[in-house]
Amino acid sequence: MKTKILVSACLLGENCKYSGGNNKNEKVIALKEYFDLIPVCPEYFGGLPIPREPSEIRGEKVFSRTGKDLTNEFLTGAQHTLYIAKEKNTPAAVLKERSPSCGFGKIYDGTFSGTLTEGNGLTADLLFKNDIQIFGENSVNKLLDLYT
Ligand code: SF4
Repeated sequence: MKTKILVSACLLGENCKYSGGNNKNEKVIALKEYFDLIPVCPEYFGGLPIPREPSEIRGEKVFSRTGKDLTNEFLTGAQHTLYIAKEKNTPAAVLKERSPSCGFGKIYDGTFSGTLTEGNGLTADLLFKNDIQIFGENSVNKLLDLYT
């Protein structure tokens, strides 16, 4: 049986991105040869529409570009994603880099100016704190090294 891995649905070509598009990534899609890929979109799970305004983390909260506080929606999406991870017993996740939900290590700084800062998206952070290894779409080789 293949190991189950959570994957940001937008990386698999799902049109769940804030713009209504996706972040389709062939290297991520190719992981299906080795893993059972479980698509997740925390922002959709949190009840946000597609398309939606872009959001960024500022301090402990998440705001949309026009200043709506969407922290609760982002937290709900993170909890739902963790629930799936536990239910499916996934040891790792491949998540979209820099997203306020899925980013890990570097995210946008809350000024909507394209500036990066150190930090984690809310979902990536919650998964990490629950012992799930996080890989960005550019670290797929590392995942393959460790799990195949
Ligand atoms: Fe992709 Fe994650 Fe944003 Fe959903 S929340 S569109 S999976 S980066």
